Amino acid sequence: EAKRLGSGTYQWFSPELDLGTQQQLTLRTQLQEAITKQQFEVFYQPIVNNVGAVVAAEALVRWKHPEQGYISPVEFIPLAERTGQIVTIGRWVLEQACRDLSQLREHGVGQVSVNFSPMQFYRDDFLSSVEQAVRAYGVKPGQLVAEITENVLLRDTTASLAMMHKLRDLGIEIALDDFGTGFASLSYLNMIPAQKLKIDRIFVQDIHINSRNAAITRGVLTMAAELGMTVVAEGVETSDERDYLNNYACDFMQGYLFCKPLPIAELIDWLNHK
Ligand code: C2E
Ligand code: MG
Ligand code: MG
Ligand code: MG
Repeated sequence: EAKRLGSGTYQWFSPELDLGTQQQLTLRTQLQEAITKQQFEVFYQPIVNNVGAVVAAEALVRWKHPEQGYISPVEFIPLAERTGQIVTIGRWVLEQACRDLSQLREHGVGQVSVNFSPMQFYRDDFLSSVEQAVRAYGVKPGQLVAEITENVLLRDTTASLAMMHKLRDLGIEIALDDFGTGFASLSYLNMIPAQKLKIDRIFVQDIHINSRNAAITRGVLTMAAELGMTVVAEGVETSDERDYLNNYACDFMQGYLFCKPLPIAELIDWLNHK
């Protein structure tokens, strides 16, 4: 078999591309070990307002592999979603983020965003685990944002909308992540009780020179404003992109231009020296 790797060598493919069954099994086993040994870490990426002040941070999980160092969520979240391991990982990330919030707040970051997989949403114990984390760490209304993608609606629209309303009742904000890249129709925007809309990086890239991206993003900004939602532009890498977004009254931005995702200690360091 052409794709078999020699023993000792290990190669990371993009999981969605071409992970052979054997490799999937290996990764799955390693992931289980990572869960048991608690090899995960939460990094935080600042979200800034239109004058560049840090108002929030997004929690982004990393797998701290003993030999390979930090492994990106892009490499293991898709598999963890298929195997259900995302439930355990996601709950841990949520707890960690809620725990870290008090430290973040001491440094002026008043809100933390956590990514949730559709699979977590459909678990019977999802709401109680969120309630528990919020209560345990004294998270107040408006301090926690649930980032979800429109794809959460595809499996059971009624159930997922009900869950979003229950989260709202707990004082948790809803942000629609990766807006414009999923498979749902625009009609869902009328239904989802989201306060925030995150424009995906693919529409932000080169916005100052890419007229098609600019048209889409301006349209989204107008629509969001009229629907009473605020917008976060993702993946802002250059000052040209930032300036363009500022000209069109984008509320919030996130991207390497401001800061990469960092371990909490490094983020606090960065905040202190900003
Ligand atoms: P996302 O939620 O859309 O997060 C934004 C991603 O864009 C992050 O990638 C972030 O590091 C990256 N990013 C931010 N600014 C820039 C930029 O200026 N340029 C570029 N090229 N990239 C930028 P990351 O950390 O690799 O996470 C990838 C995805 O993995 C996330 O996309 C999210 O869908 C998923 N993910 C991460 N942590 C979790 C988690 O705890 N639970 C779940 N369910 N998914 C997670
Ligand atoms: Mg996100
Ligand atoms: Mg996103
Ligand atoms: Mg994304």
